[in-house]
Amino acid sequence: MSTLEIRDLHVAVEDKEILRGVNLTVRSGETHALMGPNGSGKSTLAYAIAGHPKYTITSGTVTLDGEDVLSMTVDERARAGLFLAMQYPVEVPGVSVSNFLRSAVTAVRGEAPKLRTFTKELKQGMEALSIDSAFAQRNLNEGFSGGEKKRHEILQLELLKPKIAILDETDSGLDVDALRVVSEGVNRFGAEGDTGVLLITHYTRILRYVKPDFVHVFSAGRIVEEGGPELADKLEAEGYERYTKASA
Ligand code: ADP
Ligand code: MG
Ligand code: MG
Repeated sequence: MSTLEIRDLHVAVEDKEILRGVNLTVRSGETHALMGPNGSGKSTLAYAIAGHPKYTITSGTVTLDGEDVLSMTVDERARAGLFLAMQYPVEVPGVSVSNFLRSAVTAVRGEAPKLRTFTKELKQGMEALSIDSAFAQRNLNEGFSGGEKKRHEILQLELLKPKIAILDETDSGLDVDALRVVSEGVNRFGAEGDTGVLLITHYTRILRYVKPDFVHVFSAGRIVEEGGPELADKLEAEGYERYTKASA
């Protein structure tokens, strides 16, 4: 049982306050959806937790099982069991998916898995996610479709088995194929019960496919409403207008 605890988090970008007191607790086995209008600071939350240097924590705390996440290096955060999906969006010529994943597993576990063991693990992971075996030899992110990027993201989850996964779904990348891949992956992890998932999205439609245990509505840098799955239905029907009006 693991707990990610975000307490009264304030974050600034270039001296502009973006997050204004975020409180959120995610436990292993729970699926949380963090939803809100564009520009409300959802990605800022993900980047701040990831340790991106552009995002300055001005006050508040983030802990994983009581350990101070904010004082950890980016690698230490990964080793502690945090997974941040947007960490490696870049194309890396000459590095295959398989090589990349083996390095990621090595970084998180602190030692390189034997090649034979890793190859087997990778094969099983790919089979579980119905990923074609040729995918492992593709160059990282090179010419990946939205769906392939998401498959790669979920495959990382499968291999790294993080305690808490933060998936920031930029709305543009989510074609129908990608949406299905993410949803199936998240539902699978939700059902297995070991990983806590924070799914960040603008896109209310994803909640037709993912059944979150908790829904949080984000507006102007803080959570303004919380509820269960029923809140997702309300958001899909009514949109975010109510919240943006309230904060304007
Ligand atoms: P969301 O993910 O909800 O769409 P973001 O976190 O991307 O929102 O952005 C929230 C606000 O912070 C916006 O006003 C955005 O312009 C600003 N912001 C976020 N990241 C940066 C950055 N790296 N540089 C400058 N401004 C930023
Ligand atoms: Mg956005
Ligand atoms: Mg965003």
